[in-house]
Amino acid sequence: MDFRLTEEHEALRTSVRDLAREVVAPVIADHYEQHTFPYDVIRQMGKMGLFGLPFPEEHGGMGGDYFALCLALEELARIDSSVAITLEAAVSLGAMPIFRFGTDEQRARWLPRLLNGTALAAFGLTEPGFGSDAGGTQTRAVLDESTDEWVINGSKAFITNSGTDITDLVTVAAVTGTRADGSKELSTIIVPTGTPGFTVAPSYSKVGWTASDTHELTFDDCRVPAGNLLGERGRGFAQFLRILDEGRIAIAALAVGLAQGCVDESVRYAKERHAFGRPIGANQAIQFKIADMELRVHTARLAYYDAAARMLAGEPFKRQAAIAKLHASTIAVDNARDATQIHGGYGFMNEFPVARFWRDAKILEIGEGTSEVQRMIIARELGL
Ligand SMILES: Cc1cc2nc3c(=O)[nH]c(=O)nc-3n(C[C@H](O)[C@H](O)[C@H](O)COP(=O)(O)OP(=O)(O)OC[C@H]3O[C@@H](n4cnc5c(N)ncnc54)[C@H](O)[C@@H]3O)c2cc1C
Repeated sequence: MDFRLTEEHEALRTSVRDLAREVVAPVIADHYEQHTFPYDVIRQMGKMGLFGLPFPEEHGGMGGDYFALCLALEELARIDSSVAITLEAAVSLGAMPIFRFGTDEQRARWLPRLLNGTALAAFGLTEPGFGSDAGGTQTRAVLDESTDEWVINGSKAFITNSGTDITDLVTVAAVTGTRADGSKELSTIIVPTGTPGFTVAPSYSKVGWTASDTHELTFDDCRVPAGNLLGERGRGFAQFLRILDEGRIAIAALAVGLAQGCVDESVRYAKERHAFGRPIGANQAIQFKIADMELRVHTARLAYYDAAARMLAGEPFKRQAAIAKLHASTIAVDNARDATQIHGGYGFMNEFPVARFWRDAKILEIGEGTSEVQRMIIARELGL
């Protein structure tokens, strides 16, 4: 058993760390404050190959693995979560379904731009009335045999990367029929940006991740060619479960990055800030708080490394991914709260990174499966 990184993974981590410090850190506070999407940063991340990390070179990817993506997410989130979630949603939710389930033609058409970061894809599962209970999907797609087109009606809520200037498509989970046992037949359909009948609502006003892009989407007699079906008809449920299982490891990595950023900022501040004639870090109460934060980061990192290793080995990893996501998001919230406390009043000021970490941490316990859903998965895996 060896938890040390390979030379390639270590080199990637170092170069993403440099990018986060030199390219993201100087501009992100302004984007966060103004709620603007950081196109320049995304362009530079694309040039570095981050959007193609876990994909084979034959499709325009970097030939790396899913663990490489996780390391990049961790290093980005250590500085900022808006850019990290933009990458996570673009790769593990956006491009991955097309890579995993698409036809050769779909891959050839969409992947080159998605993998070099000049375009983004979004993943449309959640609806205004159904999130955790994704089987409740109401959006319908009916095949019009006279024109050989899907006609889509319904809406999707909270969809990341769906309304940027460089968004090429959204994959939409829709009910395409009823099975013999009366249950819904779910399928996934690619809807290109700009298709008539597909409307992107203005950005939500969010508490955190304010430099990321999130919209409600509406489909009103939206027609796309029958060939835009992703993979087999009726495989939608299995497809999004696979994508979400993997995505949980990526979100865990992102949460570990945020939690690590809280440690970095707290150590720095505890040395600089003086109270009662000495640095606050000279107090054991502060030292122990930071030691506990570091302990949480370390254990959460091991949990996602383990889940990723199992996934890459082709072993079952559902339980480990749920554990990693649940633990990492919980400790990210804990570390953000403690880092803010260590910063005192400055921790409540938006100009300090820990204020951003605090606002960005909470969603980690909600997105890509809430903490309750992770517990449901773990319990089910234990046979309950
Ligand atoms: C910023 C942001 C970005 C997002 N990006 C995307 C995206 O790109 N694509 C996408 O498809 N979705 C996206 N989502 C949606 C996200 O995945 C959902 O919000 C999440 O899955 C929870 O669904 P919900 O909001 O409908 O909550 P609900 O399912 O309504 O749950 C409400 C509460 O009830 C709890 N609950 C529900 N059922 C049970 C139960 N059986 N037992 C115990 N507790 C239960 C939940 O855990 C939660 O605490 C995004 C959300 C946000 C906020």
